[in-house]
Amino acid sequence: MSTNALVDRFGRRIDYLRLSVTDRCDLRCSYCMPQGFKDYEEPEDWLRFDEIVRLIALFARHGLQRVRLTGGEPLLRGRLVDLVRQIKAIPGISDLSLSTNGTHLARHAASLRAAGVDRLNVSLDTLNRERFCSITHRDALDDVLRGLRDARAAGFTRIKINMVWLAGGNNDELDAMIDFCRQQHFVLRLIETMPIGATGRASRYGSLQPHIAELRQRFHLVDGVVAGGGPARYLVDPESDFSIGFITPLSQHFCASCNRVRMTVDGTLQLCLGQEDQVAFRPLLRGGADDAELDAVLRAAIERKPERHEFNEAPGKVVRFMSMTGG
Ligand code: SAM
Ligand code: SF4
Repeated sequence: MSTNALVDRFGRRIDYLRLSVTDRCDLRCSYCMPQGFKDYEEPEDWLRFDEIVRLIALFARHGLQRVRLTGGEPLLRGRLVDLVRQIKAIPGISDLSLSTNGTHLARHAASLRAAGVDRLNVSLDTLNRERFCSITHRDALDDVLRGLRDARAAGFTRIKINMVWLAGGNNDELDAMIDFCRQQHFVLRLIETMPIGATGRASRYGSLQPHIAELRQRFHLVDGVVAGGGPARYLVDPESDFSIGFITPLSQHFCASCNRVRMTVDGTLQLCLGQEDQVAFRPLLRGGADDAELDAVLRAAIERKPERHEFNEAPGKVVRFMSMTGG
């Protein structure tokens, strides 16, 4: 580990940044963003690309290796491909990934791949058109499926499908999603709903634990590793490329191995998805702070990273919506 590394007071090394490039979205997933949402950041408050690159380069000098572009819906940010190219050129950044809802993926997949996006996560909670409409409030399932097909054709392999586990909402589709992902060689990941914002709290939570045991037995799966910087635990089939990941922040949290922080579109560093601790970088960037000052603020911020979320003990704590933080 470089002596320069960002290590918090609990000994966790922070080498992963999730960067929100917009808080806007063309979907309204019921667990994420309220339907009438309009409280967006003003464009003049969005970090510009040069500001983003300056911050990431500073981070990278302290051992940052992975960056994930997220949002809102990141493909709605203009000239995203230029940003991808610039981040990819920063020394030390070895893994650049993107989380998307897939609605605009068909149009962008090839240029994103060519610009240097290494890995893709696509959110897809259902394969049923009506249900897709009722979860996301838009009739866009076909666009997402086309996006997935084009992304594979553009050279993205091992695409991860993020399925939020909605008790009584989509959990009857587990087998259909497994079949789909096996056929298409996608990695399926099931995510427990988190009580983030009123939307997250209004969604019915279901623990994934019973399904982990059941799937392990039914498909003869074993514990395994799938490339990525995240907290998912994977079960893999030793005889094929089928694997399934579980993100279980409530039933089995993974805070002790947390390696990440998040940056919102307006340049606020969020130190924990489940807490409100944050540091605003935009005023420093626009107020003429030099690298040494930014460096000191970054180090002090990482020092303050909370030990863990309290989704179970204090589910009302996080008022911002997931789309505002960048999931
Ligand atoms: N729009 C992109 C997408 O949907 O992939 C990127 C941003 S979205 C906020 C990132 C991830 O957060 C998605 O996989 C989404 O399903 C997940 N998410 C949003 N709200 C959530 C919640 N309350 N609990 C768990 N996951 C949530
Ligand atoms: Fe948009 Fe992604 Fe939130 Fe759905 S989960 S509303 S696609 S930001």
